[in-house]
Amino acid sequence: MSLDLPRTDTRAANLAADEVRRRLEHARTTRLAQLKALDETGDSPGDHLMSNQKDAIVRVLREIDEAFARVEDGTYGTCLGCAKPVPPERLEILPHTRYCVGCRRAA
Ligand SMILES: [Zn+2]
Repeated sequence: MSLDLPRTDTRAANLAADEVRRRLEHARTTRLAQLKALDETGDSPGDHLMSNQKDAIVRVLREIDEAFARVEDGTYGTCLGCAKPVPPERLEILPHTRYCVGCRRAA
């Protein structure tokens, strides 16, 4: 982490972090609502479709938590595959993503 950033850049980064937290919070709220809706539908034993859906949501929730942690330690928005910045438009659609499009495809 670089400590010699100009003040203005730091402020911009803080603003961005607030925006990112807001997006992640929204993504988490949406996923929790989906999970709740699935629970209320009730699942029958052996309902693989339902449990697959739940697993997918739980996995995203975990990724969202990890994304929150990366906002805190300043590594948010950096691809875990190639260490390059993930394009902002991708983060807008998938705020919890850990990979750029190229690395996600390769994964
Ligand atoms: Zn990458």
